[in-house]
Amino acid sequence: MTLGACATLPSGQDSLDAIAGDYVLLQLTIGEKEAGYIDAYYGDSAVMERAKTEAPTQTLPQLAQRVAALESRTAPFIEDGAAETSMDERRARFLAAQLAAARTRLRMMQGENLPFVDEAQGLFGVKPELVELATLDAVVARIDSLVPGEGPLWQRLDTFQSRFDIPADRLKPVMDAAIAECRRRTAAHIALPEGERFELALVTDKPWGGYNYYQGDARSKIEINTDLPVRLDRAIDLGCHEGYPGHHVHNALLERELAGRRGWTEYSVYPLYSPQSFIAEGSANYGIELAFPGDEALAFNRDVLAPIAGISADGLDRYVELGKLTPQLRAAQYAIAARFLAGEIGEPEAAELLQRYTLASPQRATQSLRFIKSYRSYIINYGLGLDMVRADVEGTGSDPATRWRRMEQLLSEPTLPSDLKVR
Ligand SMILES: [Zn+2]
Repeated sequence: MTLGACATLPSGQDSLDAIAGDYVLLQLTIGEKEAGYIDAYYGDSAVMERAKTEAPTQTLPQLAQRVAALESRTAPFIEDGAAETSMDERRARFLAAQLAAARTRLRMMQGENLPFVDEAQGLFGVKPELVELATLDAVVARIDSLVPGEGPLWQRLDTFQSRFDIPADRLKPVMDAAIAECRRRTAAHIALPEGERFELALVTDKPWGGYNYYQGDARSKIEINTDLPVRLDRAIDLGCHEGYPGHHVHNALLERELAGRRGWTEYSVYPLYSPQSFIAEGSANYGIELAFPGDEALAFNRDVLAPIAGISADGLDRYVELGKLTPQLRAAQYAIAARFLAGEIGEPEAAELLQRYTLASPQRATQSLRFIKSYRSYIINYGLGLDMVRADVEGTGSDPATRWRRMEQLLSEPTLPSDLKVR
């Protein structure tokens, strides 16, 4: 007998704590059906054992029914149109949004191929707008003017940027210095959980560039993929994104504030394909700008990281300027991914378009496609998530302390994409 087969309690006797308990078991059980579905879990190991035992007895449609049943139980705790949103209300809304994502993911696991935009909306709670690639021509032209010369633009860009490849034997000390600085800048504004720490490992043969495996107890394992050379500006990016104030801090704050202080067990499990990832990736990317505003990334790369890497700082200002322009091409990635995942274009054409509109080298375009094949509409979380978190945080004004306070709030309270404000 499993939970899903039980009748639900009348709502008068039900509680968010009870729903949360069933939610954790259900998410872990779904996680047994798909590698990578659960990004992190640090709750009771007995619940994990139970999920492992029960999963073989559960079909995907049965799991989908259990999700629907939990959604029905959560609905009475949400007051539509409430002017003041209490923390309990936000808790209920978060659970409902995470369950809607689980429902969508289960449809996909049963073989449904949703249109890109519907998939993104279903999993992450945000509907991306797909651009016409030609609208990005102006950005491409601006980049073109910064790397003049012969040959295709991606090649000129790649040749120029490869000057800043961190030599493999310097990568560890460069990353250590970058992460230490990201941590120092974050700790100046956010009281980090006591004893928080991480391990850094350099790995190969992964579809991603970096990954934070949150272990619980304020510990993370940060992995950096070295299949392709890691470039200088990526050190700060990865340090902030995976570490401070990005994923490591986000998870540690959720653990301390929500799973810990409030005893909200649903935060002990992090299902990857959920609105939580939109907030996680968006805030991790915005954390780079927050920790290194204006020219501070340029200065730190020039004065500290380039010497450790043994790289000449010649042309670094142009390199950093290019680094600010290329993210504007992220929208191209969504449009290309949407067509590729719908089967409208094949792999060679998708790779060709990625080269032309994201200015990736053939190798990096192949790596992008590998990511798109694995994670699909997840890619919107990086660019669209960044745009929405930035708009919210910077909407508080230009005072850095206020911005950091808002960031800490986003990272430590139940936050959905719909909570992000365009002020
Ligand atoms: Zn990330």
